[in-house]
Amino acid sequence: MNLTVAGTGYVGLVTGTGFANLGHNVICFDIDEAKLDTLSKGELTIYEPGLEEIFRRNLKSGRLVLTSDVKKAVRESDVILICVGTPANHMQEADLTAVEEVAARIGKFMNRYKVIVNKSTVPVGTADLVKKIIKANQKKKIDFDVVSNPEFLREGAAVKDFENPDRIIVGTDSRKAEKIMVSLYRSVARTGRPIMLTGIKSAEIIKYAGNAMLATRISFMNQLSFLCDKTGADIKDVSKGLGLDGRIGPRFLHAGVGYGGSCFPKDVKALIATLKKHDCDSDLFEAVDRINEKQKSVAVEKLKAVMSINRSTIAVWGLSFKPKTDDIRDAPSLKIIEELQTLGAKVHAFDPVAMKNARKILKGVRFFKDPYETIRGCDALIVVTEWDEFRNLDMRAVKALLKKPVIIDGRNIYDPKEMKELGFTYIAIGRANGKSTSPLP
Ligand code: NAD
Repeated sequence: MNLTVAGTGYVGLVTGTGFANLGHNVICFDIDEAKLDTLSKGELTIYEPGLEEIFRRNLKSGRLVLTSDVKKAVRESDVILICVGTPANHMQEADLTAVEEVAARIGKFMNRYKVIVNKSTVPVGTADLVKKIIKANQKKKIDFDVVSNPEFLREGAAVKDFENPDRIIVGTDSRKAEKIMVSLYRSVARTGRPIMLTGIKSAEIIKYAGNAMLATRISFMNQLSFLCDKTGADIKDVSKGLGLDGRIGPRFLHAGVGYGGSCFPKDVKALIATLKKHDCDSDLFEAVDRINEKQKSVAVEKLKAVMSINRSTIAVWGLSFKPKTDDIRDAPSLKIIEELQTLGAKVHAFDPVAMKNARKILKGVRFFKDPYETIRGCDALIVVTEWDEFRNLDMRAVKALLKKPVIIDGRNIYDPKEMKELGFTYIAIGRANGKSTSPLP
């Protein structure tokens, strides 16, 4: 099939490369010329495990083409996948400017029947809007269909998720488009993964429902973590006991310093805005969002309780919003560092891959190339992202390098008992400030 992908960000680049790797001819277009230049040289603009090799191979074979020539990109394709950003606008709604721009250009350059696929996360009703914009921009009437095919890939595991998704959701009201979409995802169907066909509006809502559900689980655990802190229970045990219930399952039940990234925060907020727009209650999601915003301050609150932050130097390990990505959009680290600086602290920071992005927006922070060097002479360490490499460091060396052995473990990656034995003032989230009594020895 001849495919066009609009937008070469985390979703567009993985989607375009993934389909090219399955044998389709893919043209990716973007308005960011600098990004296209870098990509055209075979250099990736994002960190995504497993992407580089297949990206380079498909670029070299010519199956993957990058261009800023929208006219060519639109005319040469049978299917156009819209993967542009939909960040929050000032009203905390999904900003559809980029989607609308792409739709207008598709309409303008359309030369034959095409399926337009909304992969960007967009509020219910956006497929109708895209249809309207395309029609309004067509020079002559040409048939087309708009399909909602929300994307569920996780940064850090995006290539794996593309090749082996839990499910594919296709929202369509056209038999012709349905056939084309099923054929596009033929190789996924071969892996036994379901392709669920549904109405367009249901597909649009499924995406927000998924992210809101996961965000709710996180805020649920974060709120319970305060009760654990107060009572001497351990949130990790609560999480484990809860997750063993087959109806609940173990995933996304971890307390920490809050969720971040380019999806959960903005999608929960956009869902609230959509519910309000349709005169529906949004209480649950407002609470989820509020709890998360508060949770980003928990690490600094806990630090304030054991030391004076003014004129101190605090080390921060982990800047990306989660491990295995360089994405720092809405990352808790940003709020934590801002709060530390406001309180008069100097900040040392380290992240295995996100420092390039962090340097662009974090001012007054000293960046280090190594986690040990980051903490040398610091008054405390805050672990913000649960990168695997932080789990297995030499904690005796950590203690020796820190001026004061204070650790705020924002992701509960260490064992409170071990840390206490090593002589740390160890404070975790929902683990009774490291004094939790379970399990029995
Ligand atoms: P991104 O910001 O990384 O990439 C968006 C790209 O679109 C950028 O390269 C930008 O230059 C380009 N763009 C903007 N306007 C354009 C236009 N008019 N024409 C062509 N290109 C244009 O965003 P992302 O993280 O890839 O997310 C894209 C969409 O997918 C969003 O709606 C997001 O919510 C959704 N999504 C993201 C993820 C994720 O993990 N990042 C997962 C699932 C869904």
